[in-house]
Amino acid sequence: MAEGYSGLDQKHNQAAAIVAQLTTAEKAMLCSGKDFWHLHGMERLKVPAVMVTDGPHGLRKQDSSSDQVGLHRSVPATCFPTAVTLAATWNTQLLENIGAALAAECIEEDVAVLLGPGLNIKRHPYCGRNFEYFSEDPHLSGKMAAALVKGLQANGVGACLKHFAVNNQERARMIVDAVVDERTMREIYLRGFEIAVKEAQPWSVMCAYNRVNGTYCSEHSWLLNDVLRKEWGFKGMVMTDWGASNDRVEGIMGGLDLEMPGSGGVNTPHIEAAVEDGSLPVGELDRAVRRNIAVSLLGADVQAASHPFDPIDHHNLARQAAIEGSVLLKNQDNFLPLADTGTFAVIGALAKHPRYQGAGSSQVNPSQTETPWSAIAEYTDARLYAPGYVLDSTEEDPQLIKDAVMAANQVDTVILFAGLPPIYESEGFDRDTLQLPPQHERLIAAVCEANPNTVVVLNNGSAVSMPWVSLPKAVLEAYLPGQAGGTAIADLLFGAANPSGKLAETFAWSIHDVPSDPYFPGNDKQVEYREGLNVGYRYFSTTRTPSMFPFGHGLSYTRFRYAASRCTQAADDSTSVTVSVEVTNTGKVEGAEVVQLYVRDCESSVYRPDRELRAFDKVILDPGEARVVKFQLERDAFTFYDVGQRDWIVESGDFEILIGASSEDIRAQHRIHVEGDQKASPLAQRTHPPGSRGVNKIVTDQRFEQMLDKPIPKPQAVQPFHYNSSVGDLAETSAGRKVQERLMSEFLASMGGTSKDKTLNKMFEEMAKTMPLRAIVLFSRGKFSYAQLDMLLASLNRQPLKAAQAWLRSRKEK
Ligand code: BGC
Repeated sequence: MAEGYSGLDQKHNQAAAIVAQLTTAEKAMLCSGKDFWHLHGMERLKVPAVMVTDGPHGLRKQDSSSDQVGLHRSVPATCFPTAVTLAATWNTQLLENIGAALAAECIEEDVAVLLGPGLNIKRHPYCGRNFEYFSEDPHLSGKMAAALVKGLQANGVGACLKHFAVNNQERARMIVDAVVDERTMREIYLRGFEIAVKEAQPWSVMCAYNRVNGTYCSEHSWLLNDVLRKEWGFKGMVMTDWGASNDRVEGIMGGLDLEMPGSGGVNTPHIEAAVEDGSLPVGELDRAVRRNIAVSLLGADVQAASHPFDPIDHHNLARQAAIEGSVLLKNQDNFLPLADTGTFAVIGALAKHPRYQGAGSSQVNPSQTETPWSAIAEYTDARLYAPGYVLDSTEEDPQLIKDAVMAANQVDTVILFAGLPPIYESEGFDRDTLQLPPQHERLIAAVCEANPNTVVVLNNGSAVSMPWVSLPKAVLEAYLPGQAGGTAIADLLFGAANPSGKLAETFAWSIHDVPSDPYFPGNDKQVEYREGLNVGYRYFSTTRTPSMFPFGHGLSYTRFRYAASRCTQAADDSTSVTVSVEVTNTGKVEGAEVVQLYVRDCESSVYRPDRELRAFDKVILDPGEARVVKFQLERDAFTFYDVGQRDWIVESGDFEILIGASSEDIRAQHRIHVEGDQKASPLAQRTHPPGSRGVNKIVTDQRFEQMLDKPIPKPQAVQPFHYNSSVGDLAETSAGRKVQERLMSEFLASMGGTSKDKTLNKMFEEMAKTMPLRAIVLFSRGKFSYAQLDMLLASLNRQPLKAAQAWLRSRKEK
């Protein structure tokens, strides 16, 4: 993405000249946002105060009075499908097109940077934010993210990769320490970011709230300076997640440029003092300010541009994405597509009140919406409706189920909508079961018993279990399909469109099969990534654990034949390999197939998962049409990360290239010999010995320590209380409990008070409980000052002298 970078390069020079004219106080100020969504500008030097805002699957621009995290109404915008659905399209061109459409909407609203895409790995199906992330696989995540970034930035709007890094749960996200070994981090949790940074050069990256191996991401010099900048060549700006700044001076040293949102200048004096006493070299400060100004200058070009667009075109693009991202999981006896003759019962409140996006900071105010119920009317008038359940209730309503069964008995075909209502899945908290709400499961069982000619359509943001899967004839996973999901679903059901989505995550039979389950979400202070590389299909295929629907699975109304596959090495034993396969549409309708290429290392001196996705392509074929799909593999398709040599290496030996229609449906296979470049180091062999292939899920302390090559860190003690104690921690003492109650109610009031929206309340309550105390200073923009926090901590820790000193400081501040 040359434009993205060259733009930035040029602005860096201009920004450097501006930095030379700034005072230390001005520089310090520019290290923090002006308000909730803007950077500081500098009028006298013509630096504009540009706007950054959420993201990622649509523009969430609050009106100017909404200067808080409270999820107030935002301007109408196209609500595209969320990342889970987008990833299931496996269509990078489509994602580029969506990026371009998002850019046009941002420009219309003077937004310089869209806060997305989010590409954290789906380590566990319970992560409340999985709907906002692409995949359990880093290659797919990285490619999808890169495409979206390219689309945005080629059209003048900056992207912001988030949340960097190892942020794979909502529980205690602001304080938890992710303990993970380096190889796992490199190959699973950082790899997607690496791909997106190298391929698409995003303007910005958002650091995550959590700690990684003991250090907050907002001051993690290894992550931000060494890996992101020095190794990957990132030249943009790093901003915090909202309220993630820990020690602002350490942050600048650690490679963090911008604190968001603005904290009312509470950190400015600390930066100035650190420059004054020499603990912060001015060169470090200048670098951070230069990067912030460079992005602001680029952003200013956006505001000068104009990209007229037709919202209808964007709505149609959203529909296309919903069509391509829906996954046909099961289709017994070619039950789908449905003929538009006969009689239908449409069952499930989600048919009339679809859940088309997730809750939290990504929630868009859609420019228009469609319901499946009304879209189905385009195909048939012969349809009954029965809600089956109350959408925002967790209780079963026997009468509603009875009514639904009655409707099912009267018709030829049932279309049943089930899924996860928002209260089950949102930013801010994690799920606690893989199952659908019990009343949805009961409804499916009862309706299918009455009428087995049933298709279940699912709306959910992440994998669910389906103990009922044998009952309906078909299951269509529509995920969270965005504002045009209604028509997309109807078109798919009645065959106007042909499903082509494939799962970007594994659907396990049971949560007990999920390798990270014993260690998720940890204990609020610490989460241990003991499963290591065994994430998603890497685990299921290595251990031959059957899944309900494997990674990469998805059916079509047509069939594809794979034939005549070839594999050629550029020279004997070379890692430059061309692989091709001829794919033919042998059915009667046009369809698209996602061809997947996995690599298996057959002889390795370290543990390697059984197969890893290295390439994919999506081809659209007319009936009878054949196309040769070609992949060019290079060295990185064969490497693993050697922690001893701090490098990606290839070991000599045999490799298999697997070409498949899913991770478990391999249609062609080649064995090649590759001449490696290095031998695995003793450390690499010790931390991930080959014998750990096929391990069971319990990873002992001893094994985990071997993986980490150091003792497992001890979680921080709760007392004495400190800046990073959570509001919840205060409940340990009776004095703390009183303070906790007050802080919780003040935080909730600052978020706009108790809302009618139960999901929002649950999210804010969870957030408040696990929020570190220092974030209160930031979010209150200093109304509650550091001195007051010191005073509170000293009193709670029974340190009267310290408390008195802090009190004096707080008086002076006034
Ligand atoms: C979320 C970010 C989001 C930011 C601003 C945070 O709580 O984690 O993804 O961009 O808020 O709304």
